[in-house]
Amino acid sequence: MDVPETFYSLVETVCRDLYIKSLKEIPPDVVAAIRRAAATETKEVAKRIFSHYIQSIELGRDKNMMVCQDTGIPIYWVDIGGNLRLDGAKLNDAIIRGTERATREHPLRSSIVSPLKRENRQTSTGEGIPVIKYNFVRDSDCLDILFIPKGSGSENMSFMKMLVPADGINGIKKFVLEHVVGAGAKPCPPTIVGVGIGGSSDLCMSLAKKATTRPVGSKNPDPQIAALEEELFDAINQTGIGPQGLGGNTTALAVHIESAWTHITCNPVAVNMQCWRAERRRAKIWADGRVEEGF
Ligand code: SF4
Repeated sequence: MDVPETFYSLVETVCRDLYIKSLKEIPPDVVAAIRRAAATETKEVAKRIFSHYIQSIELGRDKNMMVCQDTGIPIYWVDIGGNLRLDGAKLNDAIIRGTERATREHPLRSSIVSPLKRENRQTSTGEGIPVIKYNFVRDSDCLDILFIPKGSGSENMSFMKMLVPADGINGIKKFVLEHVVGAGAKPCPPTIVGVGIGGSSDLCMSLAKKATTRPVGSKNPDPQIAALEEELFDAINQTGIGPQGLGGNTTALAVHIESAWTHITCNPVAVNMQCWRAERRRAKIWADGRVEEGF
């Protein structure tokens, strides 16, 4: 089905709204996980931090305020329905314009700079930014856009290593635990720990980041990987790092692993953490102009 010209301006507006709304309304599964962690916490300082988190979540929702000051790196995953016939270049431009409009019209702090000159266009865009990843979905009639404003505190705690096959699963566990413990307070725990295993080096890191966007409580469909998620989750929460690294029972809200097949001589592993606010927002858009928003 061909999309009308108005489709691209709709995508632009939706992308603007995804950016702004994601900074103010925390996904319900994340809120529930924070409330659960707060209810079971035994350390006084951790209880106080959780009560600040909950207050920030409520202020964002009720007073239209940003939950955290960091507008992050804008990242979009775009699933294009196989039944849609659209102009990919126009779609890409619309997403970039939506990002720029969010920044100018709200206005938001533009957190994006060139890597060496540190030049800021004040639009949250630049070469390669926003990050936009495309995928194609068979038998679908809609465009499904998932957005995260990736905070720098957690993004700076990203790690990747090409282990060798002889390192096996134990090597993967050791790598994840060493880096989550080493990161300490920096990623603003409790985090969703995203782990990528397999693929090429770049795919492995992409898998780790995408893993952080899964709803808290979801499991990898592969039982062996789901068991590894649970084992790492228990181990990380025994470290006692706690919220903001000041000690407590909850260091991770979840551990999510995504995987891909790899080369016979490779055993890649990557860690990408999402901070406690774990903001994400999604919209499905149809050619007739219908839009469905969610998380
Ligand atoms: S890591 Fe997350 S919670 Fe911490 S300052 Fe950045 S966006 Fe805010």
